[in-house]
Amino acid sequence: MKNIIVVFGVLLLLYSCGSSQKSSNTDGSNSKEVKLDVTSYAETITSGELKDYLFTFADDKFEGRDTGEPGQKKAAEFLKEQYKRMGISSPLGDDDYYQEIPESYFRGGIKSSENVLAYIKGVEKPNEIVVISAHYDHVGVDSDGNVYNGADDDGSGTVSILEIAEAFAKAAENGQGPKRSILFLHVTGEEKGLYGSKFYTENPIFPLENTVTNLNIDMIGRIDKDHEEKDKNDYIYLIGSDRLSTELHNISEEVNNEYTKLNLDYTYNAKDDPNRFYYRSDHYNFAKNNIPIIFYFNGVHEDYHKPTDTPDKIEYELMTKRAQLVFYTAWEVANREKRLIVDGIGKE
Ligand SMILES: [Zn+2]
Repeated sequence: MKNIIVVFGVLLLLYSCGSSQKSSNTDGSNSKEVKLDVTSYAETITSGELKDYLFTFADDKFEGRDTGEPGQKKAAEFLKEQYKRMGISSPLGDDDYYQEIPESYFRGGIKSSENVLAYIKGVEKPNEIVVISAHYDHVGVDSDGNVYNGADDDGSGTVSILEIAEAFAKAAENGQGPKRSILFLHVTGEEKGLYGSKFYTENPIFPLENTVTNLNIDMIGRIDKDHEEKDKNDYIYLIGSDRLSTELHNISEEVNNEYTKLNLDYTYNAKDDPNRFYYRSDHYNFAKNNIPIIFYFNGVHEDYHKPTDTPDKIEYELMTKRAQLVFYTAWEVANREKRLIVDGIGKE
C-alpha cells in the first residue's frame, strides 16, 4: 500500500507542474512531465501483496485446484474477482473472463474447465499481443485428504501475474498504457498435460500471428538445492529465451542488468538437458507455433508436487524481484518501436 501512495503523491505533484506549462506546449508534449519511470510501476509489485494473495490462493479452501473440480472453479472465481476489483477488463467482453474448455477436449474423465483471461488494450498497436501466462490448476487432494496447495506450483506464477497486471493498469491510468496489448492468461489443466495452453493456442482469442511473445511463469517462489548457499540464491532459471528471438533474449538480459540484477541461470536451457523443461510447461504450446517465449522457473525442490508446497515456505522478496523481471521484460517488448524479430525458426 505504501508504494502506491507514494506513486500517487508523485503523480499529483508532477501533474500540477505539468499543467502549469500546458499553454506553452501546443504539441501535447507537456504530457512528458507526468510520465513516470517504469520503476515506479514495477515497485507496485510488492512482497506484501504477493504474500497476501498467495496465502489466500494456496489455502485449503481451494482444495488443491484440481482441473474441473470445485476447488479449481473457486480459484477461477477468485482470479476474476481480482481483475474486476482492479478494473481490468476481459478480452471476451462484459463480465465473461472465462474461456470454456469442454469436457470432450480432455482425456481420462476430467470435467469441463476454463482458462481465465484479462487484458489491457494497447494504445498504439492494439492488434499485437504480449501474453503473460501461468497455470492456476494443481493436483487436488489425495485419498487421505491431504490438500496439495501448490503455493509454488503455480500459485507463485498466478499471483505474480495479478501484481504485474496491476502495475500495467496503474501505468494505463496515468496515460502510459502499453503500446501493444497485454493478455494475462491463467491456464487450466497444466498438471494433466498442458491442456489449457494447448486449447488457447488452438482457439486463440487473438490470432497467433499477432502474438509477439509469451512470458510463462511456472514456480518462482522457492530456491532449489543448487542455489541454497547465501551468495547463490538471488537467481532464476530462464529457459527458451534465445531459441526463437535473439532480440527477446537481449531485452531480458538488458532489463535484468539495469533493474533486477538477478543471476540468470541458463542451465536448463541447454538443448541436451535431460529434464527437457522446455517442453514441460505451457510456453511450449506457443513456442511450437514459432512464438518467442521465456519460461521463468526456480527449479524443483523437496516440496515439489507434495502437500508440503505451502505459502509459508515461499521466499517473498526473491519472488518479487522475479515477478518484476517479468514485468520489465513485458514492458520493453510491449513498448518498443518495432515488433520483436523472430530469427530462430528452424535452428533447432
Ligand atoms: Zn507447474
